[in-house]
Amino acid sequence: MTKYDAVVIGAGNGGLVAAIRLLQGGLKTLIVEKHNLPGGFATSFCRGRFEFEASLHELNDFGAPDNAGDVRVLFDELGVTDKIEWLPIPEAYRVIARSENLDATMPFGVEAFIAKMEAYVPGSRESVTKFFELAEEIRLAQAYSSSVNGQTDSKYMVANYGNFVRCGSYSVNQVLKTLKMPQKAIDILSAYWCYLGANLDDMSFIHYASMVNRYILRGAAMPKMRSHEISLAMVERIRELGGDVLFNTEAVRILTDAEGGVSGVILDDGTEIATRHVVANCAPHVVYGRMMDKVPEAEIRATNARKFAGRGFTMFLGLDRDADELGIENHNYFLYDTMDSVKQYDRMRTIADNDVQATVCLNRAFPGCSPEGTCMMYFTTLYMSDDWANVKAEDYFKTKDYVADKMIARFERDTGAKIRDHIEEISVATPMTYARYCGHPQGVIYGYESQYWDGLMPRLQMMAEDHRIRGLRFAGGYSMRLSGYSSAYFSGDISGRQTVGDFKREG
Ligand SMILES: Cc1cc2nc3c(=O)[nH]c(=O)nc-3n(C[C@H](O)[C@H](O)[C@H](O)COP(=O)(O)OP(=O)(O)OC[C@H]3O[C@@H](n4cnc5c(N)ncnc54)[C@H](O)[C@@H]3O)c2cc1C
Repeated sequence: MTKYDAVVIGAGNGGLVAAIRLLQGGLKTLIVEKHNLPGGFATSFCRGRFEFEASLHELNDFGAPDNAGDVRVLFDELGVTDKIEWLPIPEAYRVIARSENLDATMPFGVEAFIAKMEAYVPGSRESVTKFFELAEEIRLAQAYSSSVNGQTDSKYMVANYGNFVRCGSYSVNQVLKTLKMPQKAIDILSAYWCYLGANLDDMSFIHYASMVNRYILRGAAMPKMRSHEISLAMVERIRELGGDVLFNTEAVRILTDAEGGVSGVILDDGTEIATRHVVANCAPHVVYGRMMDKVPEAEIRATNARKFAGRGFTMFLGLDRDADELGIENHNYFLYDTMDSVKQYDRMRTIADNDVQATVCLNRAFPGCSPEGTCMMYFTTLYMSDDWANVKAEDYFKTKDYVADKMIARFERDTGAKIRDHIEEISVATPMTYARYCGHPQGVIYGYESQYWDGLMPRLQMMAEDHRIRGLRFAGGYSMRLSGYSSAYFSGDISGRQTVGDFKREG
């Protein structure tokens, strides 16, 4: 039997960062990944002459060396920043919404964003400025919370981050209305909501404001060779630090001792690894449902109370003309039926009604990402129910075509670009693809949905209580920082460091 101080299950964003932190803390660490490559969703794939990004639209909170965002600071500490070639994303987004007749393109940079908003919505400056001031306080409060591993001193919080504490239990819509922001400015500011996948009545203000601020404050970045470049850099770092990496290896069981604490992991070839510490980069539903015999009742109840976030669908297009020729002007488009996120969320429950898309043309950030005279696009939507489970096997391909066709028509109609006759490569991923690829229930790509009772703040505050099984921690989209690239990286950071602490306390 092989022995490790810690085993990380899954080499997605959360698992890779956790493994580096464990190694930096001096633990003998193994990371196992069921695929033959790292990254989970953070990867790329080739079709014909195109190498497509599999998921990342843009990485927020990265910044420049002299104005580093939290993600860059984390990557510096991990020792991976310089292994990756970074590109800036040109603008924040273009949002088009039919009901509101809205078409706005927003820049990065807080001042530039506020000024552009004022140009679109005269009289919005004061409320939008207040929004960013509040968002900055939230960012600082989160940085403090992270620096003390979530063991925040409530008096210090109230004294230094009073507005953060004050708006802690309110939704995005409640706070924006309290700030007296004009409706059109709320609509434009709401564009990012689908990145978090919960409607703005349900989503905690703190979570949304924190994300918007992290995008707008320092801009967004993209690795030149797609997100796969980050994943490969992290694996290289794990190996440099002496960690063991096993690909094509699935962890099938987590073993527990008489007290219910972790005692080992069984791999799919039957190998038993002795360890007292596991960081799982997969869904607790999967871990408790399939991988463990004894799970405390409270843990099962807490897990079942949670709601799955959106199930993913993505269409990837390789086009035989360049973006200028086709009239694709922007890097990042959000196309909605309405900016009323509650109504829009409801329409996104079914395949028939969902017409939303977040679309990227990577050539706008990196003109050379595809051969000269071509460009690449990817179109993503989320389903807010498991409607794809209602598709009969014989209708599966027809349904993929139906959604892909709708996406192309919608994009052409809303933006005026002409893409249909220039498709050289097309590839479509449905919730079934995502369920199979990363093993997430129902093809969920955003972990558990951010609800007012289960958003960023409650999860950070509940970190200690959530740790009911000795030796088992989670990293990634289902854990305390919620989903998305940076969130998954930060959760790996926290779980990795906490595990090092557990290990040292055990002696
Ligand atoms: C199309 C799409 C677009 C997206 N766009 C963005 C975006 O623009 N910005 C953003 O921030 N986020 C985006 N996301 C979300 C983001 O990709 C995820 O939130 C993030 O990558 C999740 O990371 P994770 O750590 O949870 O790992 P995952 O990517 O879920 O990876 C988990 C890994 O664990 C492995 N694994 C699972 N079980 C086992 C086991 N038993 N044994 C061994 N290995 C196992 C899996 O194979 C996988 O490699 C997007 C996602 C998708 C799909």
